[in-house]
Amino acid sequence: MRPFKSRNVVGKLEGSDPKLKDEWVIYTAHWDHLGRHEELKGDQIFNGAADNASGVGGLIELATGYMKLKPAPKRSVLFMATTAEEAGLLGAKYYAEHPLYALEKTLADINMDGLSLWGKTRDIEDISFGNSDLDDMLAAATTKRGRVMNPNSQPEKGTFYRADNFEFSKVGLPSLYTGAGRDVIGKPPGFGQQKKDEYVAKHYHQPSDEVNPEWDLSGAAEDLRLLFEVGYQAANADKFPEWKPGTEFKAKRDAMMKK
Ligand SMILES: [Zn+2]
Repeated sequence: MRPFKSRNVVGKLEGSDPKLKDEWVIYTAHWDHLGRHEELKGDQIFNGAADNASGVGGLIELATGYMKLKPAPKRSVLFMATTAEEAGLLGAKYYAEHPLYALEKTLADINMDGLSLWGKTRDIEDISFGNSDLDDMLAAATTKRGRVMNPNSQPEKGTFYRADNFEFSKVGLPSLYTGAGRDVIGKPPGFGQQKKDEYVAKHYHQPSDEVNPEWDLSGAAEDLRLLFEVGYQAANADKFPEWKPGTEFKAKRDAMMKK
């Protein structure tokens, strides 16, 4: 272990409504990975191309898209590349505990951690499914584009609790976290699952998580259109997204909003 300083990096787009521009929608993607392992033979560098340079690329593309909107959304949008996710969601935790803008004026966190890499898919996975109104907003956006939203296919893996969105949820902020679909258009059934299993077995948290010339990012672009739509709707909506009744994070949010 060695102590050192690192930073979250934020960009912001100011909302166009004078009354609502003090309210925020946040997009997050962690920029860190595992660094370098000097005892390894051969390649010692953990590039983290899928995990999570792909998500950071998505964050930059979303910000670029939002900048082109005339007018800007009513509320403001924060684009945040978080640090030290791999060390225990530390950058997101720091922001959740020391927010730049009040959490009671923040509507949602939309998190990206590993985008779709093998082409367009019919489906998208809602890893955070069952928690908040953001599910319904994602489902509406998905249907509008002729696609399907599936709930978290492997909740037993606890993925929802192992990414930056969890730190925002813990302090009460509704969060959305999606994963790549499996039903890849133009490929045989099972192809998407096979690629996912291959990644987990061979490349996840390994130096071999590198850019692969065979990747087809058109699926990531389609998924980003959905995340854009959800954030855009939230930034313009009449009401804040809410936790579903009975979810473990709801009490925190309700107490925060009563103040
Ligand atoms: Zn990651």
